[in-house]
Amino acid sequence: MTFRFELHHTGAQTGARRGTFQTPHGPVETPGFMPVGTQGTVKGLTIDQVKSTGAQMILGNTYHLGLRPGPDIVRALGGLHAMFAWDGPILTDSGGFQVFSLKDISKISEQSVVFRSHIDGSIIDLTPEYSIEIQEALGSDVAMVLDHVVALPAPNEEVQEAMERSIRWASRCLEHASRADQAKFAIVQGGLDTELRVQCARELATMDFEGFAVGGLSVGETPEEMYRITGATTPELPVDRPRYLMGVGRPIDLLESVVRGIDLFDCVMPTRNGRNGFAFTDQGAVKIRNAVHKTDRSPLDPTCDCFTCTRHSRGYLRHLFNAGEMLGPSLLSLHNLHYYQRVMAGARAAIETDTLTEYIVEKKRLWGMPQ
Ligand SMILES: [Zn+2]
Repeated sequence: MTFRFELHHTGAQTGARRGTFQTPHGPVETPGFMPVGTQGTVKGLTIDQVKSTGAQMILGNTYHLGLRPGPDIVRALGGLHAMFAWDGPILTDSGGFQVFSLKDISKISEQSVVFRSHIDGSIIDLTPEYSIEIQEALGSDVAMVLDHVVALPAPNEEVQEAMERSIRWASRCLEHASRADQAKFAIVQGGLDTELRVQCARELATMDFEGFAVGGLSVGETPEEMYRITGATTPELPVDRPRYLMGVGRPIDLLESVVRGIDLFDCVMPTRNGRNGFAFTDQGAVKIRNAVHKTDRSPLDPTCDCFTCTRHSRGYLRHLFNAGEMLGPSLLSLHNLHYYQRVMAGARAAIETDTLTEYIVEKKRLWGMPQ
């Protein structure tokens, strides 16, 4: 089997899982975090820097790469792995999340979603089949099915209709896919309705997907609602397949979701916040532009061994941001990605020794969060 999920240990007190997802481009230790390479680059970082953070799998966006440079050019350039110069696993999303967040959707039907490109204004008719074709041209290791994402809050009938359509579209994606070296992951939808989520998960679980995702969350609901939905969904998914929570989130959200049986994550937060001068550290959040760091010669995070923290002071980083130098956002993105990988590595070690609960208590204390 080209893809295999090896489950090493399930938490004694929680639903947390320690596993390895084997792909044609190597293993991904889980729980694991994927940095986001929206436009064929993890913003502001070279691929060696991304690798230095400990990331094993990265994410590419089908919506963005499908529009520019377009699937044919990506294929001509040797596929995403060659473009990125990344020899590890790559996951591509289906484009659904981006398309459904556009205002310029002209038509959603059972057949497809029709929208206008934000780049050249052309009309794109995105069917589930076309989403798979683009992802096959991109050559990712994991392709996500096209799903119908509704903005929340929404009337229940609308959420249910989108959920049911997502199941039919998932089946069409599976039917149309032709690459044996590309895993297909289904996406559970159903808004904030536990019953719809359970129903969706159960139906998708009967199909032969290599992995399952929980989608449509982190869209403005409270963390508690997100945890509730995630916790209700994972028990319905096959134990022997990886589970991916899409687009989440803060370090605490990752840990709370690991407790609920999630194996994979992606989020723009570490890079986006890094570009804005916001660092995640074991001393809590650091806003590097603050005047308090002006003459501070200490590192961003003294417990961190990333390039940023071993070479540079808070005072210097603050100066870079104040001077508008591009190195500042780059160095903070590097640190934040490194930090996310450390949090995940710590979680993996804690699961193995059944100490995840203690690990989370300690992290919350460091982050200054109520227990
Ligand atoms: Zn660091």
